[in-house]
Amino acid sequence: MTETHKRVIAILGSTGSIGVQTLQVVEEHPECFEIYAITANEKVDELIEQARKFLPEVVVIANETKYEQLKEALKDLPIKVYGGYEAICQVVQSQPIDIVVTALVGFAGLRPTIEAIKAGKAIALANKETMVVAGELINELAMKHQTPILPVDSEHSAIFQCLAGERDNKVEKLILTASGGPFRTFSKEQLANVTKEQALKHPNWSMGAKITIDSASMMNKGLEVIEAKWLFGIEPSKIEVVVHPQSVIHSMVQFTDGAVKAQLGTPDMRLPIMYALSYPTRLSSTFERLDFSTIKEFTFETPDIERFPNLQLAYHALTMGGNMPCVLNAANEVCVAAFLAERIKFTEMSRLIERALQSSDYQLKPTLDNLIATDSATRRMVEGWI
Ligand code: MG
Repeated sequence: MTETHKRVIAILGSTGSIGVQTLQVVEEHPECFEIYAITANEKVDELIEQARKFLPEVVVIANETKYEQLKEALKDLPIKVYGGYEAICQVVQSQPIDIVVTALVGFAGLRPTIEAIKAGKAIALANKETMVVAGELINELAMKHQTPILPVDSEHSAIFQCLAGERDNKVEKLILTASGGPFRTFSKEQLANVTKEQALKHPNWSMGAKITIDSASMMNKGLEVIEAKWLFGIEPSKIEVVVHPQSVIHSMVQFTDGAVKAQLGTPDMRLPIMYALSYPTRLSSTFERLDFSTIKEFTFETPDIERFPNLQLAYHALTMGGNMPCVLNAANEVCVAAFLAERIKFTEMSRLIERALQSSDYQLKPTLDNLIATDSATRRMVEGWI
């Protein structure tokens, strides 16, 4: 990064947890970054406030019924205002943008990410579902358009940082750390009766609702294993998950000589966000530092797949490949929404996801259209069961 050229950023999902923290990073380094576009799904009031503060060129609200309100609120400013999901897919292609932060939730991240890659934009990937559903396609496109995909997920950022400078040195395995979530010590019986309020209380990280439920069910780690495969081109058998309840080690890489490198830090997403935006440069920050005098212990456990079958289901989907990770993801999105609406119990989620994997038609090399069809067919099917 040079002082003369600011990185021009589009944030998809600017009112979500990652979006808000990305704006904080930009505020911390206004000399390095400039906001070109921000988009939100629903939260129009927050979006208006952000737009008035950061004065981007373009603002998009996906929910078109809120477009008039947005347009009216920003009419005194020289900001282009659009409504609808298609507008997001178009705005990411705008010429001035250097890097697109994909912080939308779920399958909705896929198409805008593809359009951004096709337009040659670097991707700061905060939407892991995109890589889960279509990792192979995304990698092919990124290769063709010579554009980098930079991880924002803290585990993948940790691995990315551990790999810096290693060039062709061979990796023996990636070790993804997991906090274990709020139910790490719960019995199977206790898990069956947990409430959504309990599930939404993550012990270490503050995040959006969908990922917090995914963390409680260990599906988040399952999705991250799949994400790691595609980001780092490594076989599933070489990706290990270890539960590390303190969430200080964000992940590790073991090399063929036996050396293990780890990246440590406070659980603050602004660091991985900033690293993705400024890569390969490290910028200074005022974020809280680790204080080793207050860290009493580092502990590690093997994940319990009896109590948390989602991790196993994700490995299974990944090993099968093709459209199965897409089935896994769609079934999970429907289940998480149903759990948040208190329509199903916590432990029912895994059962429904497993059933979806068993009941879906397998496609070895799905196209984008196949994946879109798989996603909607899976959603319909799982909705039908609920
Ligand atoms: Mg993560």
